[in-house]
Amino acid sequence: MTVPTGAFATPTPVTSALSTADSFAARVPVQHEGLCGLDAGLLADVVAGQARLTPEQGLELFHNMSLPELGRWADARCRALHGDAFRTFIIDRNINYTNICNAKCTFCAFRRDGDEADAYTLTYDQIHAKIRELVAIGGTQILMQGGMNPALPLQWYLDLLSGIKREFPRLHVHAFSPPEFIEFVHFFDPPGESLRDKIRWVMVRLREAGLDSLPGGGGEIFADPVRRKIGLGKCDAESWLTCMNVAHELGMFTSATMMFGHIEGYADRIHHMWMVREWQDKLGIRGDIQGSPAFGQYKAFISWPFQRENTPLGRVPDWGSDPVEVGKEFPGDAIARAWDYGRGVGKQPAGTRAADAFDFGAMDKHAYPSAHLYGKRVRMSMASDYLRTQAVSRLFLDNIYSIGSSWVTMGPHIGQLGLMYGANDMGSVMMEENVVSSAGTTYCLDEAVLCRLIRDAGFVPAQRDNTYDILKVHAGAESPDLRVTDWSEHRARKTHQQAPRGKKAIAPLGGGAGAGAGTVAQITVGAT
Ligand code: SF4
Repeated sequence: MTVPTGAFATPTPVTSALSTADSFAARVPVQHEGLCGLDAGLLADVVAGQARLTPEQGLELFHNMSLPELGRWADARCRALHGDAFRTFIIDRNINYTNICNAKCTFCAFRRDGDEADAYTLTYDQIHAKIRELVAIGGTQILMQGGMNPALPLQWYLDLLSGIKREFPRLHVHAFSPPEFIEFVHFFDPPGESLRDKIRWVMVRLREAGLDSLPGGGGEIFADPVRRKIGLGKCDAESWLTCMNVAHELGMFTSATMMFGHIEGYADRIHHMWMVREWQDKLGIRGDIQGSPAFGQYKAFISWPFQRENTPLGRVPDWGSDPVEVGKEFPGDAIARAWDYGRGVGKQPAGTRAADAFDFGAMDKHAYPSAHLYGKRVRMSMASDYLRTQAVSRLFLDNIYSIGSSWVTMGPHIGQLGLMYGANDMGSVMMEENVVSSAGTTYCLDEAVLCRLIRDAGFVPAQRDNTYDILKVHAGAESPDLRVTDWSEHRARKTHQQAPRGKKAIAPLGGGAGAGAGTVAQITVGAT
């Protein structure tokens, strides 16, 4: 494929004053615009943290480097950052406190209207019971997200958080992704001149009540044409990034995520990573001011492929299933090309969600012959595409500390392989997961299996906390995996089975206090 030149628009600076911070600017690796993305000297500098890939070079790597070679470079960069000894995991629990949601994302199998038979909101007692189970197995964090439920007032969240902190003062509460925060602004109507002010008003109160950090759910794909096709009723990229920026300004850590392998073009994935990197740069300056680690407030990036079962988007035909499509440009790639990575020209679909009614079928049929099929075909991602995307993310995101492997969607062994394609972290032991499992993913691993996967990949497993500090190194005979004599009890198992709409779902493993289904995004690992 031809790689567009100079095609990436510069994101709007968060605060122009920040760009003058010399101490940070001096640490941003240089870009070598003229070099090919496959240049070995360039990649050696990227591995050493001395050079930064341009978006065009990232896309070139994506398309033109063999998978094993890409893996070797990503692994080298990972080892430069994290060493050769340990690879980490966390013990946390996904708690999806409600499945009632006023958005209608086409990739979602979880949302319910408030009057549906299986709509739910967990009680405080149910949530506390789940946390007690987590603490009993050595868990340190909850990842709590929900649908965007207009019936829950601010006080419900404040009481929820303060109640959790009262009962479990040492628990880290990683909760409420940006789309939830944007809806909090709509639901609670807080004071403030701008969206940023309003988000901050809500976030300060939730933080005072017990919120510790924000998960990166709801990122999906930032490119506007993609987002307005699949994220119906969900916030745009600018709002998502602004919300995280507010959290970072308040000193909170967050993660960033990407869900790919649906209608998007490959260049949209690079654009997505590029947005995260640019906003992290600006936040890195804040991090310096506050004495935070050099990598800034986005601590981790986790990406995973779209899971199609039980979703409206999943019923969209695969690209190439009609023989006339074979060899033609995928519609997502055509629109990414027309969208020009955020700039757009003439009548192309650039800009904001005001362009929701853009008629892709009316685009120049000679230049964009497949545009009329945009959003009407999906290009699902398989293992090699997943590993390729993850490896590029490790090389491209030079200012993000951790890359998580998505074993929940890809399965334990592709997840394990991810440790050789740039990932340093295996996410969470999975007690309960109600989101991707409702879309057809069923993997659930305990601590022993997770440790064994890491050890068999050639590393010592280590339990970490939310800030990636190591809590326990599992090197000795007492390690969870080395104590196991009968592995039949430790196989990957189902976390959840999607019940027909309107019926109660089968209770998730270890989820004594009620079945859950629903959240802001397709979450893959507990550490999003
Ligand atoms: S993905 Fe999240 S925001 Fe979108 S419909 Fe589902 S629960 Fe709602």
